[in-house]
Amino acid sequence: MNKEGYINEAEENILHTYNRFSLVLDHGEGVYLYDTDGKEYLDFAAGIAVQAFGYGNKEYGDALKAQIDKIMHTSNLYYNVPIIHAAERVKKASGMDRVFFTNSGTEAIEGAIKAAKKYAYTRDGHAGHEIIAMNHSFHGRSIGALSVTGNKHYQEPFEPLMPGVKFADYNDLDSVKKRITDKTCAILFETVQGEGGIYPATKEFMEGVRKLCDEHDILLILDEIQCGMGRTGEMFAWQHYGVKPDIMTSAKALGCGVPVGAFLMTEKVAEKSLKPGDHGTTYGGNPFVGAAVDKVLEMMERDHITDHVKEITPYLEEKLDELVASYDFLTARRGLGLMQGVVSEKPVGQIAAKALEEGLIVITAGSDVLRFVPPLIIEKQHVDEMIGKLKKALDQM
Ligand SMILES: *Cc1c(COP(=O)(O)O)cnc(C)c1O
Repeated sequence: MNKEGYINEAEENILHTYNRFSLVLDHGEGVYLYDTDGKEYLDFAAGIAVQAFGYGNKEYGDALKAQIDKIMHTSNLYYNVPIIHAAERVKKASGMDRVFFTNSGTEAIEGAIKAAKKYAYTRDGHAGHEIIAMNHSFHGRSIGALSVTGNKHYQEPFEPLMPGVKFADYNDLDSVKKRITDKTCAILFETVQGEGGIYPATKEFMEGVRKLCDEHDILLILDEIQCGMGRTGEMFAWQHYGVKPDIMTSAKALGCGVPVGAFLMTEKVAEKSLKPGDHGTTYGGNPFVGAAVDKVLEMMERDHITDHVKEITPYLEEKLDELVASYDFLTARRGLGLMQGVVSEKPVGQIAAKALEEGLIVITAGSDVLRFVPPLIIEKQHVDEMIGKLKKALDQM
C-alpha cells in the first residue's frame, strides 16, 4: 500500500484525536527515520523526547529480544528479576528511595497525586487536601492528570474534574505562596515546562518552593517525564538546582520506546504513603519493561550520556541563537540542555510541516514555539544538518 492508502485507512479506523503530519514512518537508524516511501528524515523530536539513543541501537534491541524469549509478563503478584535491577538503577540515578513503575507518564502523575494525598491523610487523620499546580503545565490526559494540567482548553469539556486543585503562575513564588492553605498537601510542577512552551524553572523559584514546602510540610512533586533521563545534561533536571523533590515522576526516555513510567519518593513520604491495597497495576513494572529500563540506565551511566549532552548543548544553543538573530520573526530561544525552544511569530505548525518536506522532523510546543528534543546521541554534524534544513523551511515562510 502507498502512503495515501495507509493514511486513508488510518483515518477511517483510528479515532481522530490527532491532526497528524502526512507521514507514515517505517524504520529508523541512529538519528534518522525513514518513511514507507523510503524518504529519509533527520529526527529532532525523538518520538517526543523518548528515543534517547535514537533508533536501531543493537545492545538495547538484543536485551529486549532476550527478555522476550525468557518471559514478558508475570503480574505484580510475584517478584521478577529485571525490574529489581531496574529499580536499583533508577534509585541510584535519582537519589530517591522508593519507586513504583507505571505504564505511562500520565499514570506516574496519577500515582504521585495519590501518594501525596495518602501522606497527608496518614499525617492528619483525614482526607480533603489540596494540590497547587501551575498555569501552562502539562501532566497528562486522564481525569486526575488533567485536573492538574493548567490548560482550560484541555479541561473544559471534561468538567467537573478532581476538586481541590489551585493553579499558580510558574516561576512566580508569590503566586504560589498566596494559594497555600492548611489543606495544601503538594506543590506540583515540571522542572522544565515542556508542552507549555519550554520554560526552565528559575533557581529562585525552585529554592523558594522547596523552602515553602519545608516550612509547611507540603510535598514537592517534580514532573521529570520530559526533562528527565539525561535530557538537560543531568540525569534529572532538578539536579541542576540542588533542590530535591519529595516525589518525582519519570517516563518518556525511561524505556526508550517501551511504554513505562515511574513515580519515586523519599523514605519519609513512603512511610506514610501508599500501602498494600492503595495502588496497583497489571502491567506496570513487568519483566519486559524492566529489561528495557535496566538496559537504558546501564547504557546512560556507562556511556556518560549526560557528559555528551553537556558537551553538545552549547553548540546547539549557539546555532539556534544565530538562527534567531537572522530571522526577524524568530524572537527568542530558551531551554536547558537538549530541550530547547525557539519562539516564532509565524505559525510554528506550518514551519514544522515545511521542515518535513525538507527531511527534518521538528515539533512544536505551546502556540508559538518550535521544540527541539533530539536523541541525546546527536553530534555537531547533525546540528549543522538540522540548521541547514530548517533554514530552507524558514526561507519559505
Ligand atoms: C508527556 C508528558 C506527560 C504524559 O506522559 P504520557 O506518557 O503521554 O502519559 C506528563 N508530563 C509531562 C511533563 C510530559 O511531557
